Amino acid sequence: MAEWNEEFSRGMVVTAHPDDAEFGCSGTVAKWCAAGWEVVYVLCTDGSKGTSDRSLTSEDLARIRRQEQIDAGKVLGLKDVVFLDHPDAYLQPTLEVRKQIAAEIRRHKPDVLITMYPMRNLDGGYGFGHPDHMAAGEAAMAAVFPTARDHLTFPELLEEGLEPHNVREVWVMGHPSPDIWIDVTDSIDTSIEALLAHTSQLSSTDEEITASMKRGRRERAKGKGMKYAESFKRISFDGRGPGRRVSDEQEEEDEL
Ligand SMILES: [Zn+2]
Repeated sequence: MAEWNEEFSRGMVVTAHPDDAEFGCSGTVAKWCAAGWEVVYVLCTDGSKGTSDRSLTSEDLARIRRQEQIDAGKVLGLKDVVFLDHPDAYLQPTLEVRKQIAAEIRRHKPDVLITMYPMRNLDGGYGFGHPDHMAAGEAAMAAVFPTARDHLTFPELLEEGLEPHNVREVWVMGHPSPDIWIDVTDSIDTSIEALLAHTSQLSSTDEEITASMKRGRRERAKGKGMKYAESFKRISFDGRGPGRRVSDEQEEEDEL
C-alpha cells in the first residue's frame, strides 16, 4: 500500500527553528523530494538565541542559522525556504503569525503540511514542550483551518492574489500517539547530511550524530517491517476540506 495518497505532490513543513525539521521529519522530506514533490519550509523564528557562545550576537547567529537552513534545504532538494524572522524564544501564535503562514499555504498550495506538536506533554523529557514549538504548531494548524480556506479571513491576502487553499492532510511531529510511519531507509543518509549542515547547533561529532539519528529512527521502525522510520499523527480531511466532518456531508445529503 502506498504510504500516502498518490495524488499528492506538494508538501510544506512549518517549524519554529532552523534544524527542527531536520531532527523531526527530514527523512520524509528527502523521500518526498526524491519522489518529485515540491516541498517548502516555513521557519517562524530566526533562531537567534540558540547558542551558549557568548562571543556571538543574536544578529550573527541568525545569519549563520539562516545559511545553515538554506544549505540543508539544498541537500534535501527543497523548492523554497521561507523565513518569517520572528525573534527566537519569543514566538506566540498571534494572528500575524497565523496570517503569514496562511499566506505561504495559499502561495505554495501544499497537499500535506507537517508541523510541530502544539501541546505540553507532562510525562517529561523533550516532549515537555519548547514554547516556540507549541506556538509554531498552533499557528500552523490555525492557518490551515480556517484561515487558508476562507476568502473573507484576512481579505488583504486575496488582494495580493493569494486564493484560498485547502490542505489535504496535516502530519504532526512529536505526537505521543503517532498513527503513520514513513519508511525512511532509503533517505536516511540524505536526511542526516541535511542535519549536519546545522553546524552551529551540533556539539557532537558527525559520527555520534549519525549514530543517534539512526538509533532514533530504528526505534520508531520497530514492529513496522521497516529498518528506519519517522512517525507522525496524521489528520486527514479526506478531500472534504479542513473543518468539514463526515456528519456535515451526511446532513446535507439527508436534506436533499
Ligand atoms: Zn526547535
